[in-house]
Amino acid sequence: MRIIPISLPTPFYIGPVNVYLIAEDPITLIDTGPKTRAANDALHEGLRKARIRVSDIRRIVLTHAHEDHCGLARSVRDEAKDAEVLVHAWETGHRIGRLEYEEHRTLLGRAGVPPEEIETMRKMYAGVRQYADSFEANEYNELRDEEELEFETGTLRIVHTPGHTPGSCSFVREADRTVIAGDCVLKRITPNPILSPDPIDPSKRFASLAEYLVSLARLRTFAPTLVYGGHGEPVHDFEELFNRYFRAIRDRQAEVIRLLPKTGATAWEIAREMFPGADDVHRFLAVSEAVAHLDLAHSEGKIKLELGDAKEIYRPIG
Ligand SMILES: [Zn+2]
Ligand SMILES: [Zn+2]
Repeated sequence: MRIIPISLPTPFYIGPVNVYLIAEDPITLIDTGPKTRAANDALHEGLRKARIRVSDIRRIVLTHAHEDHCGLARSVRDEAKDAEVLVHAWETGHRIGRLEYEEHRTLLGRAGVPPEEIETMRKMYAGVRQYADSFEANEYNELRDEEELEFETGTLRIVHTPGHTPGSCSFVREADRTVIAGDCVLKRITPNPILSPDPIDPSKRFASLAEYLVSLARLRTFAPTLVYGGHGEPVHDFEELFNRYFRAIRDRQAEVIRLLPKTGATAWEIAREMFPGADDVHRFLAVSEAVAHLDLAHSEGKIKLELGDAKEIYRPIG
């Protein structure tokens, strides 16, 4: 079972995205790249080099529904004449008619983000949406944890690895401990746990960082020898990366706790201190990062969280 990485350009700060072709029956594409002419051309070129036509693709599997990964899914599916599209039920980025914006606005407001900033984030998000087509609920099937994707000569185990997004999935070939991990594992950067509504109760925040640590530990149980990520080169030394991520997360946690004044602060205020120069594009990521670390510290009993004036205030203990 050959796994062929194809690098595609994106219009995003993160740079090129990796998608993965499994060139045996049923021919499967894991992630598709953003909906841009350049990514579409590069995808066709990559497939051509592998001697595969788009029309040969039978299955499109999404690690998660961020635009850089899922944007071309609909157009590939249409060109491939109704290939099956698979994505985890907890992903929302590819759906039509979702209420996520309202839910996000509530969560951002509670995190202390001022209304004009929320409006800027909304406009920016609307701009990003142009890089992906949406799907109706009946147009895709669900990826289920622990099930297997079968191929002619092997299988990929579906492993639900929430954190970066609630429905992020990884795919493990146990025969040689190879993992395709989307944005759950990236060689050069610690993945951002993005502020998301909880898929079970959207009025709550998803415990992104706590879930992420569990996901990393779960991947570690497979003792991976090769991990293909959504961006950058593959990871050969998962153990080194695992330890490095944990250190980075501990350091960040110590920083957010140190930044908390005795009188308390919102996640937004902490984000502004952590990333004072963050431009519009990065303020949503900055507040996501602050919320993730503050929530983890709170869940570990290291800080307090109180609701005041419709905003959540984090306070040091003692
Ligand atoms: Zn992503
Ligand atoms: Zn990505």
